[in-house]
Parts: sequence; structure tokens; C-alpha cells
Amino acid sequence: MSNLVDDFGRQITYVRLAVTDRCNLRCQYCMPAHGIEIVPRNELLTYKEMYRIVRVLTELGVNKIRLTGGEPFVRKDFMKFLEMLSFNDLLDDINITTNGALISKHIAELEKLKKIKNINLSLDSLQREKFAKITRRDVFPEVFKTFDLLDKSSLNVKLNVVVQSGVNTDEINDFVALTKDRNIDVRFIEEMPFNGNGQRQTQENWNFTRILNEIKSQYTVVEIPSERSSTSRNYSVDGHLGTVGIIPAFTRTICNDCNRIRITSTGTFKNCLFDDGVFNLRDFIRNGASNEDLKNLFLQLVKQKPKDGFEAEANRKGNVTESMSTIGG
Ligand code: SAM
Ligand code: SF4
Repeated sequence: MSNLVDDFGRQITYVRLAVTDRCNLRCQYCMPAHGIEIVPRNELLTYKEMYRIVRVLTELGVNKIRLTGGEPFVRKDFMKFLEMLSFNDLLDDINITTNGALISKHIAELEKLKKIKNINLSLDSLQREKFAKITRRDVFPEVFKTFDLLDKSSLNVKLNVVVQSGVNTDEINDFVALTKDRNIDVRFIEEMPFNGNGQRQTQENWNFTRILNEIKSQYTVVEIPSERSSTSRNYSVDGHLGTVGIIPAFTRTICNDCNRIRITSTGTFKNCLFDDGVFNLRDFIRNGASNEDLKNLFLQLVKQKPKDGFEAEANRKGNVTESMSTIGG
């Protein structure tokens, strides 16, 4: 049981850690075409610092981590860091979110690291040209190859599809079709304004309900029970091996059971995706904080966790304009 409990009685057992702010792609909904201003290398947490932060968190009851970014596989020696993290006996699950463009050669190695169970692969279109438009890079063949290899591997695959109005909504049911013979979860994510610029102009609002209705227009789906703190509502599809889910990332109907905290690549502690960032762990560590200091700090910080993403956003000093690659998606 976690000792990290917020003021609403929610236990924090899951940390999402961005290992870098760099990325090899430039997804339209995440970054401007020229990329974001990346931070100097010495401002990024080192692997040793990350390991230490995670160790302290696990001593407080966190048992699950998601590694994300930017693109985690862009950071040098990321595979070594995964190995290092696997030695933490208090961690049960190490999950990774990746764009898949750099990992096909690592899959066999990933399978050997027993704590790595789930890979979330981001794939927003099944059409090469559209994929290139969305990501501003022509790497669909490589990403789809990764998808195939992951599907055949012992790892669980979740496909993350950001639903973008007027861009890939016509493919929602093509993605559902992928679950017919593959034991994968396809999860549709509501687009959020974290693209380095703020809210994008869209003609239509593709929220949870609309996505679900689109699926129901072609398929019979039944809601299946999800883990309490799941970010998605999940559905089985009649006659399909895999499942589909929808993540109400923007309409935020999932905050009640939130068990997560986030740490950005520069060591900013975040209680919520929508908050401003509440503390700089990197400077705290580099100024000599002990593990005991870190523990006490975490116990205090989670008490500031806002009730939900709306409260977090209302408390921000500025508007939501940063890129997901900085926050760590
Ligand atoms: N580079 C990796 C990737 O793309 O999977 C990991 C980092 S990325 C920021 C993590 C997830 O956030 C991806 O699934 C991505 O599609 C999603 N994401 C990024 N920007 C988003 C936005 N504005 N709205 C919704 N999801 C977004
Ligand atoms: Fe890179 Fe992932 Fe952002 Fe796309 S969503 S630009 S792959 S960090």
C-alpha cells in the first residue's frame, strides 16, 4: 500500500517519467514544425538522478513506472537505463510509450527484461502519406514494422491514436478493424492543447462521446471493466480478439481515481498533466538533498494534488501552451 496519499484519499502508485524532451518526429499536435527549444543537456536529469528519484518513490509505495518523453529511445543508453531500473526490486511494472521509429532492433532485448510488460506505440494513421503529414517525417514503414514485431512478441501492445479533427477521424474504424485478429488494445486519445502553441483551431469537437458513436456506427461494442485508475474506458468488439479504449484526456472524466504523478525530463514534479509543475527536483538533489529529504518532500507535494485537471488548469499561472514532449505524455 502506498504511503503517498493525497488530500482526497487517492494513493499514488504510478509515476510517469520523461527521460528526454528531444524527439525524432514533429507531430503536429505535439510540436511546432521547427521543434521546441530543447533544454541544454546538463539541465536534464541524469540516469543516476532518475534512478534515485524512482527508488525513493518506490520506497513510498509507487510500484509502476511509465517511461516517456520526447522520444525515450532518442536518449543515449536508454536500454542500459531500462536494465538499471529493472534492478529496483520494488518496481513491478516498467511501461514505455514510444513512437516506434527507433526500436525494432531492441525488441528481443526488451522481451528479456521481465518487468517490461506494456509498450504503448503511437500511431495516428495507417496511411503512409497521412502519417508523414502528421509526424512531419516519412517513417511509417519502420513504425508499422515495429508494430508487427511487437504484436508477435511477448509484450502487450497498446496503440495510441490521437484523434485529430479533419485529419484521421475517417480512420477510426480502420483502427478498430486492426483488433479483429490481433490481441492488441487500440486507444483513441482526445487531442489536448499541448502542442507548443496552445489550442489548435478545429472545425469539430471529437470528444469521447463522438469517438464512441463513430465506433458504434460500425461495430457492436460492450464496455469491459477497467482497472480503477485506468485512463481509458475500454470496450470489447463483437468477434474481435483485441479491445478498444477511449482516453478522455481533454474532457477529463477520469480524474477521480487518479493514482499518478509526473516528472519531466528536467526534474519538474507535476501532480497533474494540466498543472504548471510544482517543484524542481533536479535542483533539490543537486543542492545536496538526502533520500530522507526527498521522501518528506514527496509526502508534502502529493498533498497539493488538485482534485482534477480542471482545478489544476485553473490554478496555472499561464495558459496551456507547452509541448507534450516537454511535459512527458
Ligand atoms: N514520443 C513518444 C510517443 O509519441 O509515443 C512518447 C511521448 S508522447 C508526448 C506520449 C503520448 O502523448 C503519445 O501517445 C502522443 O500521441 C500523445 N500526445 C502528444 N501530444 C498530444 C496532444 N496534444 N494531445 C493528446 N495526446 C498527445
Ligand atoms: Fe515526438 Fe511523441 Fe511528440 Fe510525436 S508525440 S513529436 S513522437 S514526443
